[in-house]
Amino acid sequence: METAEVTDILRGADRCPCGSGDTYGSCCGAILDGSKRAPTAEALMRSRYTAFCVGDVDHLLASWHPDTRPAELTLDADTRFFLLVVHGTSGGGPFDATGRVHFTAHYRTSAGKRGTQEEDSAFTRVGGRWVYVDAL
Ligand SMILES: [Zn+2]
Repeated sequence: METAEVTDILRGADRCPCGSGDTYGSCCGAILDGSKRAPTAEALMRSRYTAFCVGDVDHLLASWHPDTRPAELTLDADTRFFLLVVHGTSGGGPFDATGRVHFTAHYRTSAGKRGTQEEDSAFTRVGGRWVYVDAL
């Protein structure tokens, strides 16, 4: 199981992969393990980026809107994300019903090829929890 391997390496005191500057344990790690809810759309997006980094498919599916969620999800094991740049957000706060987050995720392949994925993602709430809807 790739998930177990990677999360074994990432400890709570380590720097969070999302680049917030916080520790993994008090940032995305707490959201991925279910002990904390993402307070904002940006926090949820960061946790989903981190889920891609550590191979947490369960979190990706659980944080996806039921209407747009794929039946199953297989991550490309050859794609390693190493940098997240958040360009801006709108809405997505504690008192908002929807939010948008514009970001670029940088990755490299095992062959050393680098690439980027730029997305303007839409988020909404289901039962009070932030969920990812789709990319605009
Ligand atoms: Zn984080």
